[in-house]
Amino acid sequence: ESSNKAPKPVAEGENKNAEEDDSDDKAAQSLLNKLIRNNLVNTTNQVEVLQKDPNSPLYSVKSFEELHLKPQLLQGVYAMGFNRPSKIQETALPMMLAEPPQNLIAQSQSGTGKTAAFVLAMLSHVDPNNTFPQCLCVSPTYELALQTGKVIEQMGKYYPEVKLVYAIRGNKLQRGMKLQEQIVIGTPGTMLDWCSKFKFIDPKKIKVFVLDEADVMIATQGHQDQSIRIQRMLPKNCQMLLFSATFEESVWNFAQRIVPEPNIIKLKREEETLDTIKQYYVLCNSKEEKFQALCNIYGAITIAQAMIFCHTRKTAGWLAGELSREGHQVALLSGEMQVEQRAAVIERFRDGKEKVLVTTNVCARGIDVEQVSVVINFDLPVDKDGNPDNETYLHRIGRTGRFGKRGLAINMVDSRMSMNILNRIQEHFNKKIERLDTDDLDEIE
Ligand code: ADP
Repeated sequence: ESSNKAPKPVAEGENKNAEEDDSDDKAAQSLLNKLIRNNLVNTTNQVEVLQKDPNSPLYSVKSFEELHLKPQLLQGVYAMGFNRPSKIQETALPMMLAEPPQNLIAQSQSGTGKTAAFVLAMLSHVDPNNTFPQCLCVSPTYELALQTGKVIEQMGKYYPEVKLVYAIRGNKLQRGMKLQEQIVIGTPGTMLDWCSKFKFIDPKKIKVFVLDEADVMIATQGHQDQSIRIQRMLPKNCQMLLFSATFEESVWNFAQRIVPEPNIIKLKREEETLDTIKQYYVLCNSKEEKFQALCNIYGAITIAQAMIFCHTRKTAGWLAGELSREGHQVALLSGEMQVEQRAAVIERFRDGKEKVLVTTNVCARGIDVEQVSVVINFDLPVDKDGNPDNETYLHRIGRTGRFGKRGLAINMVDSRMSMNILNRIQEHFNKKIERLDTDDLDEIE
């Protein structure tokens, strides 16, 4: 059972490429993503729908009223500030709420409303008069389960008869007891134990089974098998729902084992572009000069919020120190921090408590910078072999579609090598990166 993340070993000093130990920790990225985001991502793309029965009419709703929700739930939805269904919810909700229940596999990037959708489906399907579990929701980690639990609590605020319990390691129940809560949310291992070994849950009474973050789930050893074993204990007519942010072959194979006869909804990720970004570079000779240039920029223009990327933890720590000495309120996000600490830093930054976020690349990958007006590459992004990392460059400073506000990106160049990297990035995107003279800053705005 690995529902609780063991603390990651912290590398001594700095390793060569300054890659954080958990560069592949999808669960941590996903959690950070959830914590920093407090609204929907905008998307112009259309959903692709593949119905189990291609001849049945496809319902899609433009309002929550059309779903004929219980009044307590509609109230909960509106209290969360939702006015209308998100793009994925427009089709997913009618499918999930249909009678008889339909199975669904849905894929869309994080922030498109998947969680809210299946939470609403679970809350709609439970019978509060029955005091036994009716919905199971499995998440890859304890922290992700808690996040979803919070959404259930928020949306079910006016429906207090419906109760929730967490099937997570550490939540020890007395032998022989039967759960009375209608919704159980947890990690696959504990959930499986509660269904089979301890029999706290009668799986035969489950009406809705949700598997969230399938792509993160399959990245953890054992989770796939545990999920499948839970699924096999459920009745034939139980509604199976599976969600994923990405959809590579392995996720798809897993999804098909979990969800028989599925309807499938996919929403393509919005492409990022540099079109609305003014890109500059600044020539320096050392990190001290880069810092001075940064101060000049801060002196010349008003920067609401900025993210500054460094290549190593050491540089990030140093820069954060220097900036604080200059009187800036600085947040530092660094690889040796636990996810919870990082989340707290991100939350403070998101809430505007700090105006500058200094970070290395790896631990900031999940962060959406749409709210940030200025992005500074204190070090340019390079891959392990020292080649330009174009994808990371785009992800750091790019904006999606026509929704992105105009932004400013400033690249610090401090050697012939980094000038070469910059030139190659410029060529790759075929977008001019203009030189900025930080002793004469009239030109930028
Ligand atoms: P996902 O599960 O795809 O990452 P979420 O369900 O967590 O997406 O939704 C992302 C954010 O958007 C959350 O802050 C959520 O409260 C909000 N949200 C979800 N659905 C709606 C909606 N219909 N209208 C407005 N905000 C929404």
